[in-house]
Amino acid sequence: MKVIAITGGPCAGKTSAMDVLHERLGNVGVPAVFIPEAATELILSGVAPWTCASMLEFQTRVIALQLEREAAAHAQACGDTLIICDRGLCDSRAYLTDEEYREALGANGIDQAQALARYDAVFHLDSIAKDRPEAYTKDNNGARFESAEEAALVNERVVAAWSAHPNFHVLANRPVFSEKAEALCWAIACHAGVPELAGGDAPVLVSACLLGEPCRYDGRSVPSEAVIEMAHRCKLVPVCPEVLGGLPTPRNPSEIQTDGRVLDAAGIDRTAAFEVGAREALCLARDHGCMRAILKENSPSCGVRRVYDGTFSGTLVPGMGKTAALLAASGIEVLSDVDLQAKAGENPPARNAEASA
Ligand code: SF4
Repeated sequence: MKVIAITGGPCAGKTSAMDVLHERLGNVGVPAVFIPEAATELILSGVAPWTCASMLEFQTRVIALQLEREAAAHAQACGDTLIICDRGLCDSRAYLTDEEYREALGANGIDQAQALARYDAVFHLDSIAKDRPEAYTKDNNGARFESAEEAALVNERVVAAWSAHPNFHVLANRPVFSEKAEALCWAIACHAGVPELAGGDAPVLVSACLLGEPCRYDGRSVPSEAVIEMAHRCKLVPVCPEVLGGLPTPRNPSEIQTDGRVLDAAGIDRTAAFEVGAREALCLARDHGCMRAILKENSPSCGVRRVYDGTFSGTLVPGMGKTAALLAASGIEVLSDVDLQAKAGENPPARNAEASA
């Protein structure tokens, strides 16, 4: 059983994307329980921020209803059931001060760490108000009350509210809405280990070392069964940004420094090569029409959520490799091999197999 929260700013297309997800889960026969958005349910039933004494009171009620719905879903779910929550407890934080948020959770017998830990993965859909405020509307949702400007602010607050979750992903706006819904289905397919959910046959950019290419700094590869298995379902486009950037194999390991430069273990500045490699990887992705990428976690080029801290002491910190960051900023959906491995039942790579590439 996995619990997935889908959140987003106002007018992010969340409801429509969830409709697509709902239909596709049904088509592939994956058992799922959907929990509707608690705040919307309350507002449409007449309990709203403007009918309560305060936003704190309203959000305390939202949290209570969410907990009740989640308890019912857990009671019914079993085995491979996916519990899909239309928003989760931490969304309330976007509307409250930190102190109020703690108070609202406390009134429901829960703390912030427990609130985050209830969800295996969280996906945030960016509000259209963030990138195209002229397209923002309140007309398609009777419970939506924010102006476009307020919606953009709420969007950022929701991101901040969830950002401490270890499996939090932001899905950016796309030129065509269907691409956003596809990105959500693809991300959940990877996280939940349900490849059938991933519609479309667009090629996927993949770190070459995950496919067995001996291109790592030490001349080895780190083949991932889960990634290699993907080749049966879609076209994979292998890429090694560090090789594309002109670095030899083998080479000294490199790490990103706190000032953004990339130094190798001998202290030589490799920033230019890493940036060239990132741009070349983006060109390759665009040439092949890749909208998605699976990259090697922890690498200073390919790391998606963690990289080494620049001290060559084996310490990981939150952050993205140079290529992963450029791909994500360019609208390509980026996940890591760790996301796939966790779902495919593979053991996490040994510590030394994760060393910087
Ligand atoms: S993780 Fe390193 S070796 Fe693997 S593809 Fe990325 S840059 Fe190349």
